[in-house]
Amino acid sequence: MNSNGRPNHQTTYGTRRPGSGAVQNPAPKRPPQKKKLHFKPNKEGMIALAILVLIVAVVIVLVVLTIRAIVNAVSDGAEETSSTEETTTAPPAVAAWNDGYTQKSVSTSELSSGSLILVNFEHNYSLTDSITKELTSLYGSTGHNTLFVLRDAEVRIRRDIAAPMREMLEALVEANSTLGTTSSQDRVIITSGYRNTEKQTELYNDAVGTEDENLVSKPGYSEHHTGYAIDLNIFTSAGKTVEMRENEQSWIEENCAKYGFVIRYEGSKFEITGILDEPWHFRYVGVPHATYMMENDLCLEEYLELLKTDYSYTEGPLEISTEDAEYLVYYVPASSDSTTFVSVPPELVGTYEISGNNVDGFIVTVTLK
Ligand SMILES: [Zn+2]
Repeated sequence: MNSNGRPNHQTTYGTRRPGSGAVQNPAPKRPPQKKKLHFKPNKEGMIALAILVLIVAVVIVLVVLTIRAIVNAVSDGAEETSSTEETTTAPPAVAAWNDGYTQKSVSTSELSSGSLILVNFEHNYSLTDSITKELTSLYGSTGHNTLFVLRDAEVRIRRDIAAPMREMLEALVEANSTLGTTSSQDRVIITSGYRNTEKQTELYNDAVGTEDENLVSKPGYSEHHTGYAIDLNIFTSAGKTVEMRENEQSWIEENCAKYGFVIRYEGSKFEITGILDEPWHFRYVGVPHATYMMENDLCLEEYLELLKTDYSYTEGPLEISTEDAEYLVYYVPASSDSTTFVSVPPELVGTYEISGNNVDGFIVTVTLK
């Protein structure tokens, strides 16, 4: 400290002013000689360099891509704007599944027509004796006595299921060497097709009080009245009628749906169907429905209930895919009037079929284009 209270070093400021002469400027130092840097490439250095180059390349690519994306987005936006200006009536970009569907009037009495009608101990079939025009006799028809034999000359089925049934039997015989088409071989026998009320009454009366009681439906309540059901067994070369053997049964279980048929009565569904296990009884319902039922282990009662509960027209359709096509299936409740309006697709969507369920509504099956 000096006398005025300031620290001594303050007084030395003046000594550094140029020209004061009090302190000699130190001699200028020579700048330190720069050492030459030699780049010695070594392994680590090269790797680091390569990584750096790579990073730079990636960054450039990303930048280019980003710019291109921005340019595209801007030009798309411009196109959309211009097209909306040109056509103000353009449909919305995302159409509803039932876009363009129209209403078709169907007589409510059609409830009992179509391949999805349910006939069981609760629901009788009222048209049994009035559908004879829709039947075809199998006696003397294509495949009789070769592809199949018949229990008697009276066996008839719905005309529209004759072709899929033959195709199924052809494939069954082809796939199983235990079957053939001549009398010296075991052949498929169709033991029952359509039954009129009189025939069913006869069978029922015979079965009452016997072990077959739970296999034969009351007259009016048999699926055989519809013409959509057939019983298939094996007629051996020795002249006996037996049930299908394991190989034949497992083939048909796996493949019947491809031809539109289901095994209608499984023992496990007895509580629902009221009928014991009948591995020989096949029911035609159509390819998409048979496929869905067999894949999901649903009997017809369960399947129709599912459609009604989860896939009504207002809820949206069940989508079914098979090897050959895509389908939409939905339920429409029957009106209490004589006419029901059933929503159906426009032609560009696909073709459709309407079947009654014989209870309370219609099932629409759309085969998509
Ligand atoms: Zn049967």
